[in-house]
Amino acid sequence: MCLYHRIFYTCNHSNYTLAYNCYHVLFQLQRINNPWERSRFDIPFELNPNCNPSQRNVIAPRYSEHPCDVCVQRDQERMFFEGANCFFVGTGGRT
Ligand SMILES: [Zn+2]
Ligand SMILES: [Zn+2]
Repeated sequence: MCLYHRIFYTCNHSNYTLAYNCYHVLFQLQRINNPWERSRFDIPFELNPNCNPSQRNVIAPRYSEHPCDVCVQRDQERMFFEGANCFFVGTGGRT
């Protein structure tokens, strides 16, 4: 069973980061060393459902000093549009 940290960002969002992966994941990755597996068009990665983050395998919270990636990108896009006021001039439907 894999173990995760839950990471809390300054924007109050949270996400999981992998702390330790178990042998099940390692065996899945090792399939790339098998010529028959490698010859297949795409090698499915069959993750055990127990390996997903859940109540049982989150070991410790972590606290980030930053907002999450989604918020960082959203703020960058907002700054881009706020810095480009003229972008909207003339698009209000007035004739
Ligand atoms: Zn696992
Ligand atoms: Zn966020």
